[in-house]
Amino acid sequence: MNTQDCFICGAPDAMTRFENRSETLRVKGMERRVDNLSGWECQQCGDGMHDPDSSDRHSAAGDDLVHAARKMIGTEIKRTRRKLHLTQKEAVQLLSGGGHNAFSRYERGELLPPKPLVLLMRLLDRYPHLLTDAKALTEGADMRGFTHTLNTAHKALKTS
Ligand SMILES: [Zn+2]
Repeated sequence: MNTQDCFICGAPDAMTRFENRSETLRVKGMERRVDNLSGWECQQCGDGMHDPDSSDRHSAAGDDLVHAARKMIGTEIKRTRRKLHLTQKEAVQLLSGGGHNAFSRYERGELLPPKPLVLLMRLLDRYPHLLTDAKALTEGADMRGFTHTLNTAHKALKTS
C-alpha cells in the first residue's frame, strides 16, 4: 500500500510512500548527506514523516551538523579574542556578559553564542581599533548591578 490518509492534515489518500531518497543538510557552508531515506509525505500539506531508522539517521546528521557549526563559530570567536589580546574573563566582562565561564563554553563549541556577540566579534575582528571605544562605551552599559532594599525587612538584598 503506497498511499494513505494524511495523519497530519487529514486529506484522504494524500500520503504517499517514498524510498531511497537522499538529502543534503547544510548550515554555514557545511554539509551532511543522508542516503537511503524512506517514509511518508503528504501531497496536500507538504508535511511528512521518516521511517524510524531514517528519522534516527536524519536527526543524527542534523545534530552532527549543529555541533560542527558551534565548533566553527567557537574557533572563530577564540581567534578574534586572542587577536584582541583579551583573556576569556576580560571578554566576558567587556563583551558578552553572562557567567564567568560563558566565553570558554562558546569557544569550546558547547554553547552557540548569541547572534549580537558573534556580530560584535566580527566587527572587532575587522576593526580592532574599536576595542578602545568599546572599553570606553561599556561604562554604565550594564544596568543590572544595582542593589535594592526590601523595606519590610531590615536587610539589604543584592542582585547578581
Ligand atoms: Zn497532509
